Amino acid sequence: MKLRAPFLIAVGILSLVSIAGPVTAAAPESKSQITILYDAFGTDPSMTKDWGFSALVEIAGKRILFDTGNDADIFAANVKAKGVDLKTLDFVVLSHRHSDHMAGLNYVLSVNPTVKIYAPKEGFGIYGSSLPSSFYRKDENLAPEMRYYGGVPPQIMKFGAAWRGANFELIDKTTEIAPGVTLLALVSDAVGTKELKELSLAVNTPEGLLLVVGCSHPGIEKIVEAAAAINPRIQLIVGGFHLVVASDDAIAKTVAALKDTFKVESIAPGHCTGEPTFAALKKAFGDRYLYAGLGTTLALGATTSGMRRGEGPALQQDDLTTYRRLARREDPFGILQARRLRTKASQL
Ligand SMILES: [Zn+2]
Ligand SMILES: [Zn+2]
Repeated sequence: MKLRAPFLIAVGILSLVSIAGPVTAAAPESKSQITILYDAFGTDPSMTKDWGFSALVEIAGKRILFDTGNDADIFAANVKAKGVDLKTLDFVVLSHRHSDHMAGLNYVLSVNPTVKIYAPKEGFGIYGSSLPSSFYRKDENLAPEMRYYGGVPPQIMKFGAAWRGANFELIDKTTEIAPGVTLLALVSDAVGTKELKELSLAVNTPEGLLLVVGCSHPGIEKIVEAAAAINPRIQLIVGGFHLVVASDDAIAKTVAALKDTFKVESIAPGHCTGEPTFAALKKAFGDRYLYAGLGTTLALGATTSGMRRGEGPALQQDDLTTYRRLARREDPFGILQARRLRTKASQL
């Protein structure tokens, strides 16, 4: 599709404030597609369903692994089932520090120990961090053996990563990491996940913006708002919208915002989006709802033929049972705890 003049002007203005312009056309032979490698629903018999998320994003000549699932062995089996070569990744994005998104990292590192890994920058987080030693109060009158580092701290104090030697690059604020490829850095304000940082992947293409989200703890609407600042034309959103226990009212509000306020063109929800939200999005988006169960490959760009449109998760009864069992198994988001607290507070 041709870009319209006002759009080009808008992009020109945006580029003045260092916001990503569209990626240049990729090499003709490079595929633009997303393959779902980890989720708790799907119909591919060669894959193992489990709670968590991972997707291989191939776009703009780049191969990006977004999140790594909940269990390294299941992740490894699913990667092999799809014939995905992790040695040739350009980089990995870890959306946030919840284990259902990063437990497969050990397997990735066993195959590709030097791969660049983008992760949110958190103080004392598992991805490692550092702080100037000036951050803590000193007492010069204290005996040296009672002082940190004997009273002579290093200028920068380093805090280790859970994966020693891994090639982490920590992201603190929204950053364009390659031409047209931006990591949106937002922070959750929800009870149970307050101050949790999360990265979402936005790729600006001539057909609009592709947005890949992990769990959307900062709120899917806030993430889409940040994405729309790069390009207001949002072609497709893939991933978890974090509405797995949301009320019908909250779901309706979010669905309306995505469809009517942000005018998102197509939607491919998965993971913690939740069953009632799958249904509501399917109803609202019709054939612009793309099925994204485990093992699905979504073709990106102008041609989207061969995609399963207008289908919900299409869960057969055993799939539905699995998704519900996995969703109930734990409270990875603190939502159930938050709901309990809310109920308790309303009883006071
Ligand atoms: Zn999470
Ligand atoms: Zn999650």
